[in-house]
Amino acid sequence: MKFVDSHCHINFPDLANDIDGLLSRMADNQVSHALCVAVNLPELPSVLELAGAHDNIFASVGVHPDYEDTPEPSVAQLVELAKTPKVVAIGETGLDYFRLTGDLEWQRERFRTHIRAARESGLPLIIHTRASSEDTIRIMREERADEVGGVMHCFTESWEVAQQAMELGFYISLSGIVTFKKAEELKDVARKMPLDRLLIETDSPYLAPMPHRGKQNQPAWVRHVAEHIAELKGIALEEVAAATTANFFRLFARAAQ
Ligand SMILES: [Zn+2]
Ligand SMILES: [Zn+2]
Repeated sequence: MKFVDSHCHINFPDLANDIDGLLSRMADNQVSHALCVAVNLPELPSVLELAGAHDNIFASVGVHPDYEDTPEPSVAQLVELAKTPKVVAIGETGLDYFRLTGDLEWQRERFRTHIRAARESGLPLIIHTRASSEDTIRIMREERADEVGGVMHCFTESWEVAQQAMELGFYISLSGIVTFKKAEELKDVARKMPLDRLLIETDSPYLAPMPHRGKQNQPAWVRHVAEHIAELKGIALEEVAAATTANFFRLFARAAQ
C-alpha cells in the first residue's frame, strides 16, 4: 500500500527545517511521494531545491492568487521554469475571492497566463478556487484548460462544480477538510466521487486532518485523509491508496518517468 501527498508546501521554513523528520514519518506511514507546490517566484528556488535533493519530492511552478504584491510571471517565464527537472505541473494558480476583495481583474489575468503556460509546456494545472467557482470554471473553459487537464486542489465546492471540473478532464483533490465534523457537503462529494478522478493531499502546513486538527500539518498525515474517504465510501483503505496513487502518476505523467 502506497499514498501520495499531491499538494504540500514543505519548503515553508517551519517544515523545511525538519525535512529529514518529515521524510522518515512519510516512510513510516507508507506515504511514498509528495508534490511540493510553488506559491510565488521569490520562493520558487526553495521548492526546486527540495525536489532536486530528494527522489520522492516533485515540484510545480506558479504564483498563487493570494499574493498581490509579488513579481508577476509571464507565459514565457513559466514555460522556461517548467523545464527544470522534477517539475511536473503549473500552479498553484486560480482565483480566490475570499482572502482578497476589490477589483481582482489581475487575479483573472494571472490565472489566464498560467493556463496558457500549461498549454504551451504540456503540463497539467494545479488550480486553487475559493468563493470564485463560477469565474474559475468560466476561465478554464475560455482558455481551453481541458487541453492539459489538472487538479482542483483542496476542493471545498459543491458536487455540481466537481462535475463541471471533471467534464473538463480535471481531477478533484480532497484535503483534511473532509475529515472535519461539519464538512457535510464535502463528505457527500467524497461519497459520490468516482475513484478514478480522486486525489488526496495535505496542503501542509495548513489544514491538519483529524485527529491532529489545529496542529502543523505534514505529508505523512495524508494517510488520515485516505482513511476517512475509505470510511465514507465504505471501501478498503487499500483501494483508496491504489486508486489515488495511480491517478497521481497518470495526471502528473512526468513524475512517472
Ligand atoms: Zn491552494
Ligand atoms: Zn497550496
